[in-house]
Amino acid sequence: MPCQTCGACCASFRVSFHHSQLDSEVGGYVPAMLADEETASTCRMRGTDRSPPRCVALQGEIGERVSCAIYEFRPDPCRDFAAHGVHGIQNEACNQARARHGLPRLADH
Ligand code: SF4
Ligand code: SF4
Repeated sequence: MPCQTCGACCASFRVSFHHSQLDSEVGGYVPAMLADEETASTCRMRGTDRSPPRCVALQGEIGERVSCAIYEFRPDPCRDFAAHGVHGIQNEACNQARARHGLPRLADH
């Protein structure tokens, strides 16, 4: 799995999700202390709207070894974002994030 030595997408895109996913809401699980309010109905992972972006939950060195501090409790956009080429999934945004951080593109499969 290329993600554990990458992390580029966690430091490239704004990560927005519905506030019902916050652990401050009934049935939610994403730590509210790591998110900022965005609109009346959405919030975002803190740090992902900065320039350059980097999610506060991302641990480690991009392109070396990384992990998500809230992996079990990450929001939907993170769960839906797949590495390009893994399990036949095509996700050009993955390779765009990697290019942004000077990492080689993942091959199509
Ligand atoms: S940019 Fe792609 S390879 Fe890198 S962590 Fe994100 S999904 Fe994984
Ligand atoms: S919550 Fe985890 S998977 Fe999602 S952007 Fe932040 S570090 Fe990446």
